[in-house]
Amino acid sequence: MGRESHRSRDRFPSFVRAARDAASAYTRIGGVPVPPWWPLLTAIVFAGACSSDASSPTGPDPDPPPGGAYDHTLAPGASAHDILSAESYDSLVVQVQYVEGFRPTDQGLQSLRDFLTARVHKPKGISIELEAIQVQAQATYSADDIRALEDQHRDVFTEGSTLALYVLFVDGEYAEAANVLGIAYRNTSMAIFQEKIEANTGGLTQPSQSMVEGVVLSHEVGHVLGLVDNGSPMQTEHRDEPNGHHCDDETCLMYYAVRTTDFLANLTGDGPELDADCLDDLQANGGR
Ligand SMILES: [Zn+2]
Ligand SMILES: [Zn+2]
Repeated sequence: MGRESHRSRDRFPSFVRAARDAASAYTRIGGVPVPPWWPLLTAIVFAGACSSDASSPTGPDPDPPPGGAYDHTLAPGASAHDILSAESYDSLVVQVQYVEGFRPTDQGLQSLRDFLTARVHKPKGISIELEAIQVQAQATYSADDIRALEDQHRDVFTEGSTLALYVLFVDGEYAEAANVLGIAYRNTSMAIFQEKIEANTGGLTQPSQSMVEGVVLSHEVGHVLGLVDNGSPMQTEHRDEPNGHHCDDETCLMYYAVRTTDFLANLTGDGPELDADCLDDLQANGGR
């Protein structure tokens, strides 16, 4: 209750409507219609959780644990199969929160949605909920700082057959490496260093902000989908061992430099995509 009172919630910006239309078109191909009110459903369910009647012994739990039954605090890659396949979860909701003043572009978020649509099986659709949060400006963030922000502000979790992802856009930079543009830090959670992206895009010789947002978002989603060798088993050897869970193909979206400012000078067209090895891994783990 009262979530509207302390937040500016931006539930249906134009891109979300566009995304919903696209989802409907997409699922019609598969023969499963998506009702136009579907994105509203999660909102209603969550709003209802605040107003349940505690005096009714048969009513819903008046104070469910945050996050519900699904564990959202595991390592990146732990939910890869759940996200990729439709076995247990046939729809996906992405809660995107941003520190006020660091809103991602509609086009960047559309790229996120396009990437997910292309890679995961969610016949009942993929929706995005965008929301500003008010937090104290910060120059640097550790992974623990980011986790604490998520714990404080995230309020969309996996429910029923709808799996929830979370993306947090922050000001400031990553405490551990100033050139990092994004991190995947939990099984359903990613953070984007939006101030860093804005500082390195949009200039005369720089790539566009929305394109870089899309590339960094897709790269971090790749980690949450278990790449490389971290939840989606490798079908062929292609892990770049010295650089963690990244791909050894320097043209691939999962090449290690893609999440940093170092790659920006090399960006052309729409940016890098997953190579065949990474695609094989996702498909073998239930993806498309
Ligand atoms: Zn990475
Ligand atoms: Zn790859």
